[in-house]
Amino acid sequence: MTTATPSSEPNIVIVGGGHAAAALCAALANAGQGHRIHLVCAESVLPYQRPPLSKAFLKSLDEAHQPHRADSWYVEAGIRVHRADPAQAIDREQRTVSLQSGTSLHFDQMVIATGTRARRLAAIPEGLGNVALLRSSADAEQLRSQLQAGRKLSVLGGGFIGLEVAMTALGLGLQVEVLEAAPRLLARSISPEVAEHVLRHHEAAGLVVRVGVRVDDFRIEANHLAALSVDGNPQPVDLMLMGIGAEPETALAEAAGLAVDNGILVDAHMTTSDPAIFAVGDCARFPEAKSGQRLRLESVQNATDQARCAAASLLGKPQVYSALPWFWSEQGSLRLQMAGLMPEGGVRVRRPGASEASFSIFHYLDGKLACVESVNAPMDHMMSRKLLEAGKSPSAEQVSDPAVALKTLL
Ligand code: NAP
Repeated sequence: MTTATPSSEPNIVIVGGGHAAAALCAALANAGQGHRIHLVCAESVLPYQRPPLSKAFLKSLDEAHQPHRADSWYVEAGIRVHRADPAQAIDREQRTVSLQSGTSLHFDQMVIATGTRARRLAAIPEGLGNVALLRSSADAEQLRSQLQAGRKLSVLGGGFIGLEVAMTALGLGLQVEVLEAAPRLLARSISPEVAEHVLRHHEAAGLVVRVGVRVDDFRIEANHLAALSVDGNPQPVDLMLMGIGAEPETALAEAAGLAVDNGILVDAHMTTSDPAIFAVGDCARFPEAKSGQRLRLESVQNATDQARCAAASLLGKPQVYSALPWFWSEQGSLRLQMAGLMPEGGVRVRRPGASEASFSIFHYLDGKLACVESVNAPMDHMMSRKLLEAGKSPSAEQVSDPAVALKTLL
């Protein structure tokens, strides 16, 4: 067993190889603290950009995954990277993390950035040759090797993964059907108006969408999913993608006795119930700055900004996490962008864009602007972020008039 022992400077162990871990390495290296870091990655590759995996990466076998930084950057920053060596256990008394290889790393401070894992339909066994999940670049490689024109792809789940892959596959010449359990697409993430627009756009492009349907049975033949029963009606399966949501990777934290409840519980500085251990990104459940309500967000923005917040804590300059949530999704020729948190209820105001295919929905709660969804309106999205960050709340009359430039309302 190799043991990294305590050095004169406090050691920081970062567990995870996603966007949050990459952003944390960058923030600490920029502060000249890279030499204190051990980065522990479960995958064999360095942290990479995940958004292209459901889009550009699937379109061409020549498309490589995109590491955030090259190997040489980690070497120059003094960061010791442990690849394909997942953390197995945290010993909080001894302040060590044991890795699969048998290596034991001492830490003075630690950050858990383990993200989420893809949810699966429990009844369908793992390892079937024609059933894909999409989480890692290895998953994406396996999926794209099967996306040949003329094949039929059944997508379970009309969320972000499902719709992004469905539209990519459609563009590649596959027949694609989306099976969504909820009564509409993206039900938890976007408003009914935007969901309706997405549905019409995707159907016009040739996507078959069935909402409010349940897979209630299936048939397996020779390591292949041969058929699904949807609402009691059997249908053959050629290829299937499961995009039915994600679950936080909290097993390490739970086994170590940290407070966990649908995510690792952290305070406004990203500190867990152990003051030497932080958690960031998709796996962390944090208090929202204004309401104090606990949230767990699954987005690149949240991972990146929480990593910067945790870096500030590690560098002895703690800040309260208060970044504005925002995200985007590209589905064929549709670009959805959202700024702020969509309230339940409230008043929705439509702002027309430059064409029929471009508009924004402004959400007001108790008379105050809370969230803006934009469809093919990137400038309105950027200006909305600035308005929300500045705490501005322009009137419904102002935002619904496309002649009023949003930048004049700042
Ligand atoms: P998701 O966006 O939560 O969507 C999953 C969808 O599947 C939901 O609409 C869900 O409905 C539905 N569903 C659940 N169980 C089902 C079942 N048995 N049959 C049919 N439909 C079912 O999750 P995802 O698309 O799998 O994405 C996984 C993760 O990747 C998320 O963290 C997501 O944010 C992230 N991601 C983000 C982006 C982006 O921001 N652009 C792009 C790709 C992926 P209910 O809501 O009713 O459960």
